[in-house]
Amino acid sequence: MTAIGAVDIGGTKIAVGMVDDAGRVLAKMEAPSQSAGAWMEARQLIAGMLRETAQKSNRSIAGIGIGSTGPVDPISGYFGNLDALPQWSGASIVDDLADEFHVPVALENDADAGALGEASWGAGTDKTRLIYVTIGTGIGGGIILDNRLYRGAGGAHPEIAHQVIDVNGPACSCGLNGCWESFASGPAMARWMEIQPEYAGEPGLTARRIYELAQAGDPLAVRAVERETFYLGIGLANLVNLFTPDAIVLSGSVMKSAGRYLRDIYRVMQRGCRFVPLDKVELRLTSLGENADLIGAARVWHHRFAAIELGAQK
Ligand SMILES: [Zn+2]
Repeated sequence: MTAIGAVDIGGTKIAVGMVDDAGRVLAKMEAPSQSAGAWMEARQLIAGMLRETAQKSNRSIAGIGIGSTGPVDPISGYFGNLDALPQWSGASIVDDLADEFHVPVALENDADAGALGEASWGAGTDKTRLIYVTIGTGIGGGIILDNRLYRGAGGAHPEIAHQVIDVNGPACSCGLNGCWESFASGPAMARWMEIQPEYAGEPGLTARRIYELAQAGDPLAVRAVERETFYLGIGLANLVNLFTPDAIVLSGSVMKSAGRYLRDIYRVMQRGCRFVPLDKVELRLTSLGENADLIGAARVWHHRFAAIELGAQK
């Protein structure tokens, strides 16, 4: 029997697994990204993990799907100037793995991979217009329109994190000020807490810790959570005003804590979505659990090569 080899490349870890045609992860392995070194060594590491997981799951590899931290060129299969892994920039993971395994290989930005996974096997299977948003150390998004992954000019991936929320906001790496990511990512939440004079502070604050402090009644953490709810709601309201999708699926490390405030986030959206039918837009949390990234990477392959309509499989 065969399975799809799934490769998820993040700034901190590389995950590799075998995923069957129903979106189930049969075997998986992980390694720290930084330990992989230069691309030639990383290529050997990833190939070795693919072989090992194929052996563990007793499947042969029919194809390989990749979701990667960006920027990547999904058409040529090359890494762009990767922020997290600059030493891999310019390498062609698609050609290299196709040479190694002699199977079709497909690559997408990891947020687009996440969107494909949710649209096919996750929280968006019954929706044709879906926006997937992941909120963690940064913000990423993927857009599915009429069951296909939306691509911009030259195959480009839209950068929803860099919608400007407040022109007087913090400077962003993109050159603008006050982008959504600079207000609503996990590190943005921690930065805001750390600069408050009344907060004595503690090292290594994370969004998760701030949510825990808020649950315990820490007044400043409560304000930080209210602020996060507000900025999440504003950014999502903008997406609804621009696209009016059938559903928005939320994922990422911040949403693990922020998920319990979904109704409050929705209330912020209601204030800013009067001219579009927000009541027809469902706000959902990811349903794919800890293997979501691998499932999405496998779906990248199906979306590119298999004539299976997204949403056809439930
Ligand atoms: Zn920006």
